[in-house]
Amino acid sequence: MAGRNHLYIPGPTNTPHEVLSAMHLPMEDHRSPIFPNLFKPILADLKKVFRTETGQCFVYPATGTAGWEVALTNCLNPGDKVLIYRFGQFSHLWMEMAKRLGFDVEAHEIEWGKGIPLDALEARLKDDKNHQIKAVLATHNETSTGVTSRIDGVRKAMDAARHPALLFVDGVSSIASIEFRMDEWGVDAAISGSQKGFMLPAGAAILAFSQKALLASETTTYPRAFLSLQDQINSNKDGYTPYTPSTPMLHGLRKSLDLLLAEGMDNIYARHNRLAEGVRRAVAAWGLKICAHPGFESDTVTAIVVPADKDARQVISTAFNKYNISLGAGLTEVSGKVFRIGHLGDMNDVSLLGAIAGVEMAMLDSGIDIKAGSGVAAAIEYYRSTAQ
Ligand SMILES: *Cc1c(COP(=O)(O)O)cnc(C)c1O
Repeated sequence: MAGRNHLYIPGPTNTPHEVLSAMHLPMEDHRSPIFPNLFKPILADLKKVFRTETGQCFVYPATGTAGWEVALTNCLNPGDKVLIYRFGQFSHLWMEMAKRLGFDVEAHEIEWGKGIPLDALEARLKDDKNHQIKAVLATHNETSTGVTSRIDGVRKAMDAARHPALLFVDGVSSIASIEFRMDEWGVDAAISGSQKGFMLPAGAAILAFSQKALLASETTTYPRAFLSLQDQINSNKDGYTPYTPSTPMLHGLRKSLDLLLAEGMDNIYARHNRLAEGVRRAVAAWGLKICAHPGFESDTVTAIVVPADKDARQVISTAFNKYNISLGAGLTEVSGKVFRIGHLGDMNDVSLLGAIAGVEMAMLDSGIDIKAGSGVAAAIEYYRSTAQ
């Protein structure tokens, strides 16, 4: 098919041309005396993206899933109790991992479309008088449902209960795109991956740990090897890595950090909010609903609910086969019920209008009763009236 594929999945996201070019280079010696000139400033600049001054950042040759495991196995002891709310595929998988690793998992089921219930969290923590709960696992942006939870609210609930548990946050689809403030929110482990807001290929788990979490990692007894934070700390202090790094990935990350910091984190949050609002207006103009309940709407991904007698999988396959557009599928519990538009990373008004137009064509072809151009018109009006 002529023309390019239009990638509107919530990860991997579109990689800017500058980043692709930066990764296209010969392999190099990662034990050379000049390698730290590349790696040390990356670790320093990552702190600006995580909004931490007191924490420490890490890059593992892995994915976000490994990031969950780094936090669990480095900062907790075997069998420790962890608290998690399950409201989508990613919080589900994190819960499953914690179970597989032998932790005592207290999971609470929340309707898919909602996020972390702050009052219930506070009440549960107040109830935990002996402080059996050692970590709260919070999925900041549940990518499968397009739901964002308030991590500042989670911190408030923990403080109100005077609970000393560690706060682990899955920010794989939020960090580097929507507001994330590690220090201000008292996050102990912040987990991200390369292929969402960082606009890189998959293959790097990008993490930040608080001093409290790092202190815990010195004494915990959970067995760890490849994912050991202490091994990273020992090598990183001289600007090296405990095993072979993906040097093209690091050059790409260097460029992506340059782009992110040049735009400015607050501008990035505002851009994502504005782009997302245009999509939400388009959905409203179609007369459809999004999966996220009011107050939980995500600025990085929108899950759109198709009418009950229609199959979202048909919209996705039509979009791909006829119009060369990749949309996100509904996962497990919402399979066939929703399709998702990823609007994070290297994205602007006109790119996203392409997604909205393509979605309209695919929905019309799938027999969904919308007015052609209605969503595009609503988004155009919003983007025009708010363009700088
Ligand atoms: C993508 C994603 C993950 C998993 O990351 P992988 O890189 O696929 O391991 C975890 N959590 C959230 C919220 C995600 O969006």
